[in-house]
Amino acid sequence: MSEASIFTKIMEGEIPGEILFQDDDCIVLKDISPQAPTHMLVIPRKPIVGVQTASSEDEQLLGHLLVVAQRMAAQEGIANDGYRCVINAGVNGGQQVPHLHIHVLGGRQLQWPPG
Ligand code: AMP
Repeated sequence: MSEASIFTKIMEGEIPGEILFQDDDCIVLKDISPQAPTHMLVIPRKPIVGVQTASSEDEQLLGHLLVVAQRMAAQEGIANDGYRCVINAGVNGGQQVPHLHIHVLGGRQLQWPPG
C-alpha cells in the first residue's frame, strides 16, 4: 500500500495541523503556506489521490466537500465579498500533495487568469 499522505497523517494525529472543522467524511485544515488572508483546505478522509482519480462512487462525497467549502467560507467571513475554490489536479495542475483537496481562498481580490 502507498504511504499515507501528509493530510492523512494530520487526520490521524501523527503530525500537527490546524483543523478548523471535521466530520465523518472530511476535515478542513488551515493551509500552512497561505496564499490569501483566508486559505483553507477541504480534504476527504478517503485517500483519493485527486479529482483525476475520483470515481462515480465518490459523487456524493465530492458534493459534500463543496457544501463544506461553502459553509466554511461563511463561517470564516469571506462569503459576502466572494472567494475561490480551486482543485489542482496532477503535474500541470500544480498539485503537490497526492490527496484530493479543495483550496478555499478569500479575503482579498483574487486575480484571473491564474499563473
Ligand atoms: P496542492 O499544490 O494543490 O497539492 O496544495 C497542497 C497544499 O497543501 C499547499 O497549499 C500547501 O501549502 C499545503 N500544505 C502542505 N503541507 C501542509 C500542512 N502540513 N498543513 C497544512 N497545509 C499544508
